Amino acid sequence: MNKHVTNFNEIILPLTREIDFEIAGDIEKESVFVSPQIDRIVVSEDLKSARLIAREGANLEEVADKARRFLDVMVKQVTGFEIKVFVDTKRKDTGPYQIGVNDGLVERGWMHDYGKGQVAYSGPVLKLAQLINEKAGELYKKAYNATDGHFPAMIDADTLHKCGYFDSHPNAVTFLGNVIEDFDAIEEFRRANSCSEGALLPQPEHIHIDGMCLNPAACFPCYPTLKGKTYLTGESFTWMGRVFRYESRNINGLDRLYEFNVRELVFVGTEEYVRECRAKALPIVEEMATFFDIDCQVQTATDPFFATVSAAKKFWQAAQEVKNEIKIPALGNDGSTKMLACGSINLHGNFFGKRFEFYCANGEPAQTGCVGLGIERWVLAAFTQHGFEPHRWPEAVRNRIFS
Ligand code: AMP
Ligand code: ZN
Repeated sequence: MNKHVTNFNEIILPLTREIDFEIAGDIEKESVFVSPQIDRIVVSEDLKSARLIAREGANLEEVADKARRFLDVMVKQVTGFEIKVFVDTKRKDTGPYQIGVNDGLVERGWMHDYGKGQVAYSGPVLKLAQLINEKAGELYKKAYNATDGHFPAMIDADTLHKCGYFDSHPNAVTFLGNVIEDFDAIEEFRRANSCSEGALLPQPEHIHIDGMCLNPAACFPCYPTLKGKTYLTGESFTWMGRVFRYESRNINGLDRLYEFNVRELVFVGTEEYVRECRAKALPIVEEMATFFDIDCQVQTATDPFFATVSAAKKFWQAAQEVKNEIKIPALGNDGSTKMLACGSINLHGNFFGKRFEFYCANGEPAQTGCVGLGIERWVLAAFTQHGFEPHRWPEAVRNRIFS
């Protein structure tokens, strides 16, 4: 292949069919995973072509080929499934949605953005995050008699592999690396950093990746603990999980973090038990939305799978209606309204029961389902819908977070 090193860095790529806005959005978001030489891919207004914006010095032939293969698999996605809405709450606050919440929280000293998809928070942000977590925990205790738990933030690759994560979301995984157990390599690393201005990383060949990962989905670490259990009906567990997803250049304030917290509920047992548990989640979301006084919907949804498997997996998920999402309106950086996925309600069939060997009394692998609430997204959505003035917040929340 000829190498074209050039500064002329845009290419128009025709799409093999006219797409819709949903696929266009997915293409633009997932385009960060096509090549480090690509700045971004933008779909044209007529939805018939895409504009590839390459980085300076990119090998255009190579990136165009990669982008074409990416676009070819993305346009195969089937959309147009009827979106069913199960919950639709309306807030009482009549004030406008607040624009620029992320900046506003930083300005008030309630949040620190480290700039790499991690945030620190205190004051009303911390109190609100704690209240969201606490409220969900209380409701889960009451409705499910859920057992509290705690799980590690790291997870080993074999568990993630068993969970099917590498097949679905290989782009989002984070592997941990250590300096190899070598006296000279460790000393070289130490010496390099002892007087350097910034951090100097070990040479790649001195980093050892042994398969420890950062956990990318709250419920995964729960399944290995269930091995060998048998369920007559079922059991539920709840905890606050720390979750990590490598979102590359898509990171943005509280909307899209690398590291975030999820209030998780997992239910395990017979098909009937798990279906009942899923149904019970709907009034709980409604109660949460009413308590925090927010506009909120629960509707059928699909996951953002990696491009090559996206069409097939999304189709399966949509057809089976195994994923519902809690969507809360918020404002994008440009002030446009967007539906923020603030939680999901999922059915997994017997996938985890089979792989992690836990059963129903009849010897069949047990079924599972989960509900995950993205704490930071609830915080963002609530501040968007009530702003920074305490008087607009519902009294019970105001008394807790602004006191
Ligand atoms: P999922 O398991 O993909 O349905 O994710 C559970 C919830 O985690 C989502 O509904 C979001 O609220 C939240 N979430 C997912 N990715 C991120 C992210 N990058 N930053 C902040 N919250 C997220
Ligand atoms: Zn889950």
